[in-house]
Amino acid sequence: MEIKKSEEAYKEALEYIPGGVNSPVRSLKSVGASPIFIDHAKGVQLIDIDGNCFTDFCLSWGVFILGHGHPQVNKAVINALSKGTSFGIPTLAETELAKLVRHCIPTMEKVRFVNSGTEAVMSAIRLARAYTGRNLVVKFEGCYHGHVDHLLVSAGSGVASLSRASSAGVPDAFVVHTVSLPFNDKKTIDDFFKERGSEVAAVIVEPVPANMGVVLPQGQFLHHLRKLTEKYNCLLIFDEVITGLRLSVGGAQQVYGVKPDITTIGKIIGGGFPAAAFGGKNAIMSLLAPDGPVYQAGTLSGNPVAMSAGTATLKILLTEGFYEDLNRKSDDFISELKNVVAEKGITVNHIGSMFTMFFTDEDVHSFADVKRTDRERFARFFRYMLINRVYMSPSPFEANFISLFHRESELERITKIVKRFNK
Ligand code: PLP
Repeated sequence: MEIKKSEEAYKEALEYIPGGVNSPVRSLKSVGASPIFIDHAKGVQLIDIDGNCFTDFCLSWGVFILGHGHPQVNKAVINALSKGTSFGIPTLAETELAKLVRHCIPTMEKVRFVNSGTEAVMSAIRLARAYTGRNLVVKFEGCYHGHVDHLLVSAGSGVASLSRASSAGVPDAFVVHTVSLPFNDKKTIDDFFKERGSEVAAVIVEPVPANMGVVLPQGQFLHHLRKLTEKYNCLLIFDEVITGLRLSVGGAQQVYGVKPDITTIGKIIGGGFPAAAFGGKNAIMSLLAPDGPVYQAGTLSGNPVAMSAGTATLKILLTEGFYEDLNRKSDDFISELKNVVAEKGITVNHIGSMFTMFFTDEDVHSFADVKRTDRERFARFFRYMLINRVYMSPSPFEANFISLFHRESELERITKIVKRFNK
C-alpha cells in the first residue's frame, strides 16, 4: 500500500505539532504504524491523501453512528452555517436539542451543553461534590472519563492505599479525593464503602466500559452500584459519552434499567461537531450558575452549528426500527466474526453496535483481564487490516463501531479478511 503522501505529511506535522497529532492515539505509535492522513470520508469509507480507501470501524471514536456525511445532517449544518456560526446569546437550537435529549434519556431532566466529554464529566463531578458536600469520587480501573486532572489516577496496590496521578503534570495532591476500584468487583466496592462510604460524593462509571475495549457489566453490577450509592446518599454518574445514543436511544441506562443521578453524553450528540452534555435531576442541576452556586460556563457551549448537527442526528435515531436494524445487523456480523476467530485465540466482546477483539483465549471482564491480552499480536492484526483497507480502532483498549452505512455485503467481506489472518 502506497502511503508516501501521508508519510510526508506526518514528517511536516511533527515539525509543528507535538507528536504530529492533536490526540495521542492518532499517531498509531502503539500499533507500530505511521498515521494515515485523511482527505475525505463518505458513509463508512475513509479516503486518505494518497487515494487509499478504507472501511472505517473507528468512526471518529464512535461519533458517526449514521456514517460520515449523512445528507440530512449536512443539510441541517449548511442551513445553520448560513445564519451565523456563534452568537454567545441563546438560540432556539439549544432548547430544541435539550428537549430531544430529555425525550431520549428521561433521567436528564435538565441538560447543559458543553464542548467535549471531558468538560461534561468535569462539570458533573463539580456538581456532585456541591450537591453532597463531600469530596471523594470513586471511579473504576480501565474506565476513561476524559483528561480531567483529578480522574487521571492509577489504582493503588490496595483499596486503602493512596491514589497516584497517572499523568505527569498532575500533582498527587489533585488525586487524593479520587479512588479507582476494579470494575465488576462487588466485594471490593462493598468493602470500600463500609470503610469510607460516608465520604463519597459520587461513583462515576462507564456503564459499559469501552475505553479498555468493550467490557460488559456482570451479574447486576450496575444495579448494585445504584443500591450502594442510594444507601450511602451519594450520587451515581453514568458516563455515557460513548454508550449514550449508541446502545439504544436511551443509552446503557435504558438497556440495563438503571437510573443514574447525573449522565454525561458526547460524541454522537454533536453529529461530528464539538458538543457534549451533562444532565440529571432538577434538584441537582438547579445548583448550576446562574440559578445556584456551582460555576460552569463556555464561550462556544450550545454552538448553533453543533446543535443543528446533533438535532438532525437524533431525529434519524428516533425513526422507528433504527436501533433494531442496527443491532440486528451488528449481532449477525459479530456472531460470524466469533466463528471465524474461534480457533485463533481471539475473544470478541460486544453489545449492540460496538465490539472489541481481545487477543486472548480467556474471558475479559476487567482491566486486569485486558492487561493480560497479547498487544503485540493486536498490533500485527491492526497493520494486517490496514493493508487490507480496513481501519480498526488503533488500540487494543478501544471499541470498534458499526454504523447505518456498514452494509451486510461489506461486513461479510471484512469477516473473510479476518478469517485469513494467521499471524
Ligand atoms: N468519557 C468517555 C466515556 C469517553 O470515551 C471520552 C472520550 O473518548 C470522554 C469521556 C472524553 O470525551 P472528549 O474526548 O470529548 O473530551
